[in-house]
Amino acid sequence: KREKPAALLDERIKKQKLPAKADISAVVHWFRTDLRVRDNAALSNAIKLLREIRGQKKDAQLIALYTINEHDWRAHLDSGWKLTFALNALESLREMLKQMNVALVVRKFESKKPLLSRSSEFVDWVKEQCVSLAQGNVLVTANAQYETDELYRDLKLFDKQDEQFRFQVYHDQCIVQPGSLTTGKGSQYTVFTPWYKRWVEYLKSHKQGKEAIKIHAVDQESKVNESLAKFESEAYELSDEFLAYLPCDKLEVPPATEADAHELLQEFISSGNAHKYNEKKDTLSLDSTSHLSCYITSGLISTREVVNRAFHENGDSLMRRDIKQNNSVENFIKEVAWRDFYKHVMCNWPYMSMEIAIKFETMDIKWENDEEKFSKWCLGETGLPVVDAIMRKLLYTGYISNRCRMIVASFLSKNLLVDWRWGERWFRKHLLDADLASNAGGWGFCSSTGIDAQPYFRIFNMKLQCERYDPDGKFVKMWVPELKDADNVRIIREGRSEKDAVDGYPSPIVDLKDSRERALEAFREAL
Ligand code: FAD
Repeated sequence: KREKPAALLDERIKKQKLPAKADISAVVHWFRTDLRVRDNAALSNAIKLLREIRGQKKDAQLIALYTINEHDWRAHLDSGWKLTFALNALESLREMLKQMNVALVVRKFESKKPLLSRSSEFVDWVKEQCVSLAQGNVLVTANAQYETDELYRDLKLFDKQDEQFRFQVYHDQCIVQPGSLTTGKGSQYTVFTPWYKRWVEYLKSHKQGKEAIKIHAVDQESKVNESLAKFESEAYELSDEFLAYLPCDKLEVPPATEADAHELLQEFISSGNAHKYNEKKDTLSLDSTSHLSCYITSGLISTREVVNRAFHENGDSLMRRDIKQNNSVENFIKEVAWRDFYKHVMCNWPYMSMEIAIKFETMDIKWENDEEKFSKWCLGETGLPVVDAIMRKLLYTGYISNRCRMIVASFLSKNLLVDWRWGERWFRKHLLDADLASNAGGWGFCSSTGIDAQPYFRIFNMKLQCERYDPDGKFVKMWVPELKDADNVRIIREGRSEKDAVDGYPSPIVDLKDSRERALEAFREAL
């Protein structure tokens, strides 16, 4: 059980009780990866509690808090794209909260200690500032985060509770809470399809997931909030060292507001892209998927709301017999379910968030780990046009589609025989939507080292991928300008041979056929 902090946290959540209302003078909602006011479990509970407390203590306050720690950002390898997006999202959150009469307090912590040994610092600050300004005890609410360090941090915070500092955590990140869908033997499913059937049944039988949680405005004078606002200016004093790592001014990120997230969802549905999801999602040049992932990862929209909207669009039905098997909107919902699946998996196998393969036996694979080849993969200089196009798009925009992610992950881990963890880290450092569980899950799937993974002998055939998903070479030409005038289909799909004259574009760093055989051999040897 000690190995499953998610189960331990869930026990604490189930046991948590509201302290005597008359004893609480302020409720602090601690925003983490839930940067929204709509459909937010912990925030809505914070407001509900505040209303109850107000019955006995008229001037009890709601304080909205966000904490920044440069050290954490670095440790998580979060990309400049993701951080810029989150900082912008914070500004829009501030506006939304203002309309609710709540000021957002951003507090910067400097500690370089690991997250789980830092709980005292947080509690001390809450006591020194919030407790003294509110002139009474404080209740902190937050939504659970399922990465291992974050789970242990919250467990420690539960232990640190006393009269002055009370702590309540809520499940909010998944549509179906981790640990609630188990096999007949009570264990976590290892295969997605049966898990998905249970997920759908759960959705159908529970009201949860159907209606967005309502958030009410707070009627308060922001006396305490204003006093705490002094921390604000300090919070944004990011170190020069960190600013160099976060070149905000050079990055153009999508607009980061809750309204934008909802508009994007609406547009995805009304443009027909949701209804044509199956036909269009894999075509590389169309970029027709929802692009909601950065909004979901930063918490600007809940997956509950995304699924509800799609569910409604599908005539409130999922897995109905009279619906064609290949229903596009249902397949979209199924993709969103993969996100829940990987979070459930990470809660059950916490080492998934520590760069350890779920299929232990694959730890014996003799990766070639050629640094030069890896670096060419990173920069889009492999000479394999489709791989280069995708990797350049990632570098320039921070976003690539699922098909793109699968192609380059298969190429790195199989054809180049580079340890999947190198690629997983590179993705984290460059994705706008970097999410530990989905990223590790996706890499585990493509490199055949993870849960419900592709069999190891499934190695993407680049020529076939191009034939199917970039038949006219439009995507490749868009991102590999060296080939913009090439009319030889072989060059566009398989790269140039030594004999082909193509200015400034290299020939492939590996032979696809040979490298495929080498990968099969390496996997066979280890398994
Ligand atoms: P849509 O196709 O419109 O799907 C809607 C939502 O469903 C997405 O926003 C996402 O939240 C969820 N989703 C869709 N496909 C998946 C999937 N296969 N696994 C989990 N959730 C999914 N997704 C991330 O959010 N963060 C990551 O760091 C990440 N890393 C990945 C790494 C690899 C190697 C692979 C193969 C996949 C990874 N994914 C990751 C999953 C998926 O590629 C992205 O969620 C998706 O491409 C985002 O684009 P979209 O919002 O347009 O997706």
